[in-house]
This record gives sequence, structure tokens and C-alpha cells, in this order.
Amino acid sequence: MASDKGPSGGDATSRRRIEPWEFEVFFDPRQLRKEACLLYEIQWGTSRKIWRNSGKNTTNHVEINFIEKFTLERQYCPSIHCSVTWFLSWSPCWECSKAIRAFLSQHPSVTLVIYVARLFWHMEPQNRQGLRDLINSGVTIQIMSVPEYDHCWRNFVNYPPGKDHWPGYPVLWMKLYALELHCIILSLPPCLKISRRNQNQLTLFRLTLQNCHYQTIPPHVLLATGLIQLPVTWR
Ligand SMILES: [Zn+2]
Repeated sequence: MASDKGPSGGDATSRRRIEPWEFEVFFDPRQLRKEACLLYEIQWGTSRKIWRNSGKNTTNHVEINFIEKFTLERQYCPSIHCSVTWFLSWSPCWECSKAIRAFLSQHPSVTLVIYVARLFWHMEPQNRQGLRDLINSGVTIQIMSVPEYDHCWRNFVNYPPGKDHWPGYPVLWMKLYALELHCIILSLPPCLKISRRNQNQLTLFRLTLQNCHYQTIPPHVLLATGLIQLPVTWR
């Protein structure tokens, strides 16, 4: 472990690492940064080698860029299992969800796990359906939590010497997004409302729970936010 030297000291991995400020602004669940960032890992068969790289939006969304790069560069061998993990600052939009499903149906030996920092326009029914369709076609989607942030920091960020621990965001926002992802999976109406006050760039997060949320979402997910008290039945 060369943790006290940081990854920049001549390490071959430093080329594909992003800068700490980039990671912090792209993946902050409290911010609504416009561009998306993708950090990804690819592992073939039983090989222990993990290929890591990063991508950002160009004229295409990052997901489309990944699919194009993968299709162009990789000599795809259907008999070798390929496991792909994405760490995305924004969850895929409905169009990307559709493209990912098409890609996976053309590459049946690829499995995809997606961790997202934030849900992209999550009030839009098409985006919600897109995520459900992905999950139904075998993709795992989860909200990034502390272990994933730590993992990304150590493996994808050109962190300064001695700072091999991710500096951290408050976990509340991860729990709020995790709760909303549950709503999406269970086809419930949104309960997390996000609005921005333009003048002071303040982003407001508001929880509005209806009976269907209390009845359907597992209590531990509701309680994990620390903001919700479950209704008590008195007798
Ligand atoms: Zn997209």
C-alpha cells in the first residue's frame, strides 16, 4: 500500500484518474451539476485484472459514449463473461436506458451494475420507467453510498498524498435518493421533490409522503433518512 504517497507518483494509473475537485463537484448528491461523469470498471472472465476508466458527456451522454467505445475497441467474445460496473453522477435518462438495454441484448454475456449519485429528472415518468425497464432486464441499480464513494476516491481520483480517504458528503442525501429509487422500483409516485432557487443557487430537497409510500416502502428504508416518523397505531 503506497497510500501515503498518493497515486500520482509515477503510477501508471494516474493517467485515467480524475482530479479531486472534479470528483467532488460531479458526485456531490446535494448539487445539480449539469454534466455527467462516468467512472467504470470492466472485468473479463475469471481474470483478476480490472480495467478502469472515466468518461464525461460530449455531444452524447456518457452512457452512449461507453457503449460506442466498448463496441469499437473490444473484441467481444460471447463465451467469456464480462462484468461491468458503472459509477454515474446521474442516473441514465430514458433514452440511454433504452440504448443500454439494446446493448445488453446484443451482448448477453455482459452483466451491468450501476451505482448512481443522483437520480436524473426523476419526476419524469419516462425516466422512471426507463430505470424500471433496466432493472427488469437484469441490471442492478443502486444509489452510491459511503463504501462506493470511498472505492471511487481510491481507484479513480488523483488524490493528494496522505489523503486516501474520501472527504465525504452528508449521508442524508444518499438516503433520500435511495428512498426515491425505492419509489421508482415499486412504481409509486415520487416522494422527493427537488427545487432550485435560481438567485442564490440554493437547492431545496423536500419529502412528501403519501399513504401509499407508508404502506409499500419497507420501514427500514423510510427510517434510514432519520426524517420520518412512522405513524403509530394507538389502542
Ligand atoms: Zn442519457
